Amino acid sequence: MEIDWILDRLKQGGVVAIPTETVYGLAADASSPAAVKAIFTTKGRPQTNPLIVHVASVQAARTLVTFTPEAEALAQAFWPGPLTLVAPRRPGAPVAEAVSAGLETLAVRVPAHPLMQQVLQALGRPLAAPSANRSGRPSPTTVDHVAQDFGPTLPILDGGSCDKGLESTVVQVLPDHPVQILRYGSLSPQDIAAVVPVAEGLGPGEASPGRLLRHYAPQTPLVLNITAPEPMDAYLSFGPTDHTGPCFPLSARGDMTEAAQRLFAQLRAADTSGAPRIAVAPVPDRGVGLAINDRLRRAAGAVG
Ligand code: AMP
Ligand code: MG
Repeated sequence: MEIDWILDRLKQGGVVAIPTETVYGLAADASSPAAVKAIFTTKGRPQTNPLIVHVASVQAARTLVTFTPEAEALAQAFWPGPLTLVAPRRPGAPVAEAVSAGLETLAVRVPAHPLMQQVLQALGRPLAAPSANRSGRPSPTTVDHVAQDFGPTLPILDGGSCDKGLESTVVQVLPDHPVQILRYGSLSPQDIAAVVPVAEGLGPGEASPGRLLRHYAPQTPLVLNITAPEPMDAYLSFGPTDHTGPCFPLSARGDMTEAAQRLFAQLRAADTSGAPRIAVAPVPDRGVGLAINDRLRRAAGAVG
């Protein structure tokens, strides 16, 4: 799709898919209640799960939420990039109520992808954009993934494969509270801790409603931490393997960044391979591996 056409659709309150450096987003005008409602219905997303608002610059983000000094430091360090800040919503912020699903906070992000930046700058309004998958499915990192979930009628801006392949790290920055990670993502806890002091582990599930829902699930049963897969298994390997059945390497050289980038694509490919079961190799639980394992546990059926 041409970018001008995408802009027209957004101005008319339509829903479109746009690439970001994390995953493809299902975007609409965040200031329009009808456009925001259309995101929820298109995705089949529960109204209780708030959306991330995307803006072109730190300056634009400051008009939507109040920034603590920690929020400023994180924004300076990581924006544009795969960081989402959850902060108190400013009264009068031009964002539909449904975006924050009843919370007094708003999740904001300044994405780095040149196409998303171009759209945001041309539009001059915030875009609400959850991942462009049907609710509960693995996130999309290519145009084909988006089309698999929504068919040919949804307009998609083609940006090839997403660079990071995993969603943003969601960090809560409230006055008089310790900085708290609400969702593991592309930036590791160590990346965050290098900039501001941050509480250990993940914040409570209630603070991040998306964590309480089934997510990332393939249709095929999936098992984790498998070093010796069954011959028929579709195997998501990490490092070397001698599996003779269908193999979907996350990273043959055991590189966590590469595994993050390929995770959702390999999960979708394994799911459509016809294998009776997907088996996943152990992935180290550190750095971006924390986010990979979070997504894999949810894909296997865990919530919370
Ligand atoms: P998605 O865009 O589909 O990757 O999901 C966005 C994630 O951000 C979900 O887990 C939401 O629950 C979370 N989120 C969005 N807004 C807020 C908010 N105001 N407070 C806490 N979490 C939020
Ligand atoms: Mg999502």
